[in-house]
Amino acid sequence: MTDKNTGGDVRLSGISKSYGSFHAVRPLDLTIPQGSFFALLGASGCGKTTTLRMIAGLEDPTTGTVFLGDRDVTDLPPYKRPVNTVFQSYALFPHMTISENIAFGLRRRGIKTVKPQVDDMIELVQLGEHAHKKPHQLSGGQQQRVAVARALINHPQVLLLDEPLGALDLKLRRQMQLELKRIQTEVGITFVHVTHDQEEAMTMADQVAVMNGGRVEQLGAPADLYENPQSTFVANFLGTSNLIEAEVAGTGADITVTAGGGTLKLPGDRCSAAVRTGGKVLVGVRPEKISLTHADDAADIADGRNRVTGRIVESSFIGVSTQYVVDGPAGAGLQVYEQNIERDERLRPGAEVVLHWNPAHTFGLDAAQSLSAGTMGDAGVETVEDAS
Ligand code: ATP
Repeated sequence: MTDKNTGGDVRLSGISKSYGSFHAVRPLDLTIPQGSFFALLGASGCGKTTTLRMIAGLEDPTTGTVFLGDRDVTDLPPYKRPVNTVFQSYALFPHMTISENIAFGLRRRGIKTVKPQVDDMIELVQLGEHAHKKPHQLSGGQQQRVAVARALINHPQVLLLDEPLGALDLKLRRQMQLELKRIQTEVGITFVHVTHDQEEAMTMADQVAVMNGGRVEQLGAPADLYENPQSTFVANFLGTSNLIEAEVAGTGADITVTAGGGTLKLPGDRCSAAVRTGGKVLVGVRPEKISLTHADDAADIADGRNRVTGRIVESSFIGVSTQYVVDGPAGAGLQVYEQNIERDERLRPGAEVVLHWNPAHTFGLDAAQSLSAGTMGDAGVETVEDAS
C-alpha cells in the first residue's frame, strides 16, 4: 500500500470518545486508504458507530484529530466535510419520486440541470424502471440503493455506511453486499462500512478493523485476519476456531507443543511472540482444516500430520458439510467441518476418531487470554460495561 496515492486517505490520529467515565472509543490511530472498501466490525457497543460518527462530524471527539487527506477536518461541521452517510433507516422522502430523492442533494446546492447525473446514478444502482415510483413502492433493498445513489450523487470523498443492510432479510442482505461492492469498485470512492456481521465484512471489505471494547483488536485483509488471528477474540469472532491448551516443548522454525498427551507442530511464523518464549500456549486450528478418520483406520493417516484423538459427541448434517463435535484428551467440544463428498457411515456420535490436519494450518496464541473471548457467550462481546 506504500506506493498508493495517500492524498485522500482518512486518517484518525489519537481519536477517542468518552461519555463521562465511560470510554466508548479509546485513543485510536487508523488510516483508511483512499479508494478502499473498509469495514469497522464488532459486536454491539464496541464503538464502531461512534468512530464512524466522528469521521462524519456527527460526534465531537474527546481527543484526537480527523484528517481527510492532509486536511484537518476535526472542527468542521458535517455539511462542510466531503463525506456522506447512509444509515440503516433509508430516510428517503416519502412524497418524492426516486428520481427526486436522488436529485435532492444537487437541487439543494442550487444546481438546475440534474437529469444527466440522476440518470447516471439510477443506472449505477440499477433502478431504471423504478425512477418514477415513490419509496413505499420499492422493496427494502431497492430503497437502500436509492439511499446510496442519493449520497453518491454529491461526489463525496468518503461514503460512510452505518449498518446499511441491517433491516434486510438474509437473502437480500447477501445480494446487496455484492451490489454495494460492485458500486464501490465502479465509483472508486472510499467506503467505510460499519457492521456486526463478520461474513458481511469479509465479503465486501478490502480491509477490516475488528473492534472490541473501544479498541481496534486487529486490522487486516479478510483472509489474513481469518488465517492469522492475533488474539482469541479475533479467532472466535471471525468464524469458529478450535483452541487447544498446550505446553511448548521445543522452538525453532517449527514449534513443538504437547497437548492431551500428544505432540503437535505449528509454524513459528504463525505464532504470537509470547508463544515463541515457551510455557503455556493456545494452539488454534479452524474446523474446516481438520479431517476426521475412524480410529480403526488410524494407520492410514499420512505421516507428519498433526493428530488428536477423541469421540464424536454430536454430528449435524447441513447439506454442504457435516459438522462434528468431538471430545478428547486435547480438549472438549472440538469442531470439525467435513465436506460431504464421500461420507463414512461409521462417523456417528459415539465413534472413536482421529482428528488430523496439516501442521501449516495451525496457529499459536498467547495463553494469557480468555478462551471464550469473542464467542456469543462471552461477556466482552455482549455487554459494554466490561470494556471500560
Ligand atoms: P451498535 O452496533 O449497537 O450501534 P456500536 O459498536 O456501534 O454498537 P457505539 O454506538 O459506537 O457502539 O457505542 C459505543 C458505546 O458508547 C456504547 O456502549 C454506547 O452505549 C455508548 N454511547 C454511545 N453514545 C452515547 C451517548 N450519547 N451517551 C452515553 N453513552 C453513549
